[in-house]
Amino acid sequence: HGSLFVPLTLLLCVVLFQWEVIQRTLNGSQFYTFSVCNVGEREQDNWLRTTFIQRRPSASRVFVELQFIVRDCNSFDGASLTCKETFNLFTSESDADVGTTFRKGQFKKVATIAPDEITSKNELRINTETKVVENLSRKGFYLAFQDIGACIALLSVRVYYKTCPATVKSLASFPETVAGGENQALREVSGVCVENAISEELPRIYCTVDGEWVVPVGQCQCKPGYEEVEDECQECKAGSFKAEASGDKCTPCPANTQELDSGAVVCPCMDGFYRAPNDPPTGPCSGLPSAPRDLVATTSAGKLLLTWSPPEDTGGRTDITYSIECQRCEGMVCQSCGEKIRYEPAGVGLTDTKVSVSELDAHLNYTFTVEAHSGVTVLTSQAVPPANRPPSTSDDNLDVTTYTVLILEKNSVQIKDLVPGTAYLFRVQALSSDGSPGGSSMEEQFETSGTEGNQHGQRSTCFFLKNETSLIHGFCIFLFRKRNSHTRQGPEDTYFSSSEQLKPLKTYVDPHTYEDPNTAVLKFATEIHPSHITKQKVIGAGEFGEVYRGILKVPGRKEVAVAIKTLKPGYTEKQRQDFLSEASIMGQFSHQNIIRLEGVVTKFKHAMIVTEYMENGALDRYLRDHDGEFASFQLVGMLRGIAAGMKYLSDMSYVHRDLAARNILVNNTLECKVSDFGLSRVLEDDPEGTYTTSGGKIPIRWTAPEAIAYRKFTSASDVWSFGIVMWEVMAFGERPYWDMSNHEVMKAINEAFRLPAPMDCPSAVYQLMLQCWLQDRSKRPRFGDIVSLLDKLLRSPDSLKTIADFDPRISIRLPSTSGSDGSPFRSVSEWLESIKMSQYSENFACAGVVTMDQVLQMKNEDIKNIGVRLPGHLKRIAYSILGLKDQTSTLSVFAV
Ligand code: AMP
Repeated sequence: HGSLFVPLTLLLCVVLFQWEVIQRTLNGSQFYTFSVCNVGEREQDNWLRTTFIQRRPSASRVFVELQFIVRDCNSFDGASLTCKETFNLFTSESDADVGTTFRKGQFKKVATIAPDEITSKNELRINTETKVVENLSRKGFYLAFQDIGACIALLSVRVYYKTCPATVKSLASFPETVAGGENQALREVSGVCVENAISEELPRIYCTVDGEWVVPVGQCQCKPGYEEVEDECQECKAGSFKAEASGDKCTPCPANTQELDSGAVVCPCMDGFYRAPNDPPTGPCSGLPSAPRDLVATTSAGKLLLTWSPPEDTGGRTDITYSIECQRCEGMVCQSCGEKIRYEPAGVGLTDTKVSVSELDAHLNYTFTVEAHSGVTVLTSQAVPPANRPPSTSDDNLDVTTYTVLILEKNSVQIKDLVPGTAYLFRVQALSSDGSPGGSSMEEQFETSGTEGNQHGQRSTCFFLKNETSLIHGFCIFLFRKRNSHTRQGPEDTYFSSSEQLKPLKTYVDPHTYEDPNTAVLKFATEIHPSHITKQKVIGAGEFGEVYRGILKVPGRKEVAVAIKTLKPGYTEKQRQDFLSEASIMGQFSHQNIIRLEGVVTKFKHAMIVTEYMENGALDRYLRDHDGEFASFQLVGMLRGIAAGMKYLSDMSYVHRDLAARNILVNNTLECKVSDFGLSRVLEDDPEGTYTTSGGKIPIRWTAPEAIAYRKFTSASDVWSFGIVMWEVMAFGERPYWDMSNHEVMKAINEAFRLPAPMDCPSAVYQLMLQCWLQDRSKRPRFGDIVSLLDKLLRSPDSLKTIADFDPRISIRLPSTSGSDGSPFRSVSEWLESIKMSQYSENFACAGVVTMDQVLQMKNEDIKNIGVRLPGHLKRIAYSILGLKDQTSTLSVFAV
């Protein structure tokens, strides 16, 4: 690490007094020496001075290495009195070359140089001595050698300083650094992380006087997607990944993930595999569980006990739970069993493979479906036909999970609407009048004939009870089970009804048709005793009073988290009825994607509506808070859930009128459920509602033109609103039509303008939005079509890869050149606020980006490097910068 400063040849000494240049032969080679040898004379003062030696500014300490010969004074006869055996080294600093001017007084003595070995007459001894010249501060210096009467020859002078060489330590590179001197024994040097490495703390190290690096501080680490290989950060090899900046190596992609090219930060799930919201993004992906197997129903103590075996394939997960779906049919009309029957321990979230069902009605035909769920079905239960349903094409003789129970009072039954080409298993069990079970028949298998082409169910099988004596006491239970065989089955078929039977399941009854609205509430909602309700915390404000989070604990039932809507004191009877009308409506619905009514309190002073609790609150807010954090397929999964809820409502002929993301609630598994029912709600409650000339209140930007124009509210107008919800979801809760006024929105819609595609919106999804916004309502898709299309998209993730064209200046409303008042942005934080990216203010500041000029210089890579990781955020910032640069275009209209 010593670095040569001045080669010897340059050290040509230019000022000589008495010294002379002598050519000598030493050890066979010839070279020149500067010599002086006035040993016999008194008071010698002979000087030899170097040329001007320029100094590197940081080198305040230099080493002078001398090679010289001194003759033994004893070898000079009679000169021993005056003869010397040492000489002196001097130095003088200067800012300029003074040429041959020489002033002795300007020189300071550095050292007396004495030989270790004296040269006698016959033997030459070369000495090497190194002296340090410290505290140099001017541009250069001279060295001088003073002889005071010795016989000496100077062979070489080497002048050098020491450096710590340029190095890479702990992935930080440090520049060559001149070693310090006495006054600064350790020089602190800061380094920079090597390419593709980052550190939280500025990397530092110390350079010692001896030119050695010691004590590195502040480790650099390879950024995500890179690993350390011999002082460098190299991209993770194909098939491996690294999610964080760390000293770790890249790890192979976990099970069921796609192996990307090199440099992967995460391995995305393979098609058909998912990560649950709580799964680490670095963990394996899991498949959907297959259907539960071997569903069996038995009766005991007046109850029906359903048992089954776990799915054959759990998709590699341990968090399997089961839920029971129940349909009851009265003649041709089937509907969800809803609150009417009781499950023990519960109808959902079962971890055991059994459930007992009670409070079944006689004369009714029940169909139970057991669904298996896991952490990943959360996303996909809204996304693909539930995995637990029988596969839609199946050539193997799989048991399906459908079990039908009939309670009869007679000893024969005709089973209609069977699926052709399907095997059915039947068992008959006697039941006494108090519900306790009697003996049961053997299981018998029958097969329906027919082929796929035969769309209608068969009505041919007839059975007789074998154990007729049991009948004397009462009913009998008739169990039958369907075994799949070579039959194509759509999910709907599992309800065990023909297609005519499915539609309509049930029609919504307007509580207004009841003369006394209180009767309606009692009919559709369960009365809860207030002592079973515990309010915990206010979570929102409804039109009629506060909304609380709380606990519902009904004796004999598991306690559940609930939302409690209250009616504020001082209400009128009309307000009370309006308030409770929401429960009358909600109580008629039973669907996974409709907020579930637990019950009402009407018989006490403080009326309450109790519904299931949705941990993540309203969808618009939730998406705004998680802007950019979900992939398209997750957003489309949410939309699928909302569409399924809306299909259910439209099948029941219920028109919502106020479908908007603010009226969708999200639970902790990201399931979306439609909420906000009620008679006067649209008119009164919604802050988005705008009074129309006819006195009603309408949320203009969500409402179809015909509903605004002549109050034609239909499921088709709900479809228009659903299109707006799709836009809100894909834009992470952005306000539709941004800051345009209601009037401007109506005018634009009339002129056939429509909202443009949100950023990163799959083209197929945007096309569906545009379909929902067709002027002619009869041409809009129906909710059934929407659910099917969204299912299709979710089943083939590739279909979401084509992204709709969009113009950042309009679609994310990026201010083109200036702040809201039209003047250019005064600060980086003002700009970030305008594009709703304030959370990155600190990242910009820390990276030293403090002026808008600096912002304009930033490249995409720079934005990433300062810590903006989410692709949506990266794009928003990058597009805004592009927009700032491109001052010429100002677009004011949006796409047709
Ligand atoms: P609403 O009167 O139905 O609009 O409710 C007012 C607010 O209370 C909503 O915006 C939600 O933030 C909250 N809220 C209402 N129902 C629930 C629920 N079931 N779970 C969680 N939060 C709810």
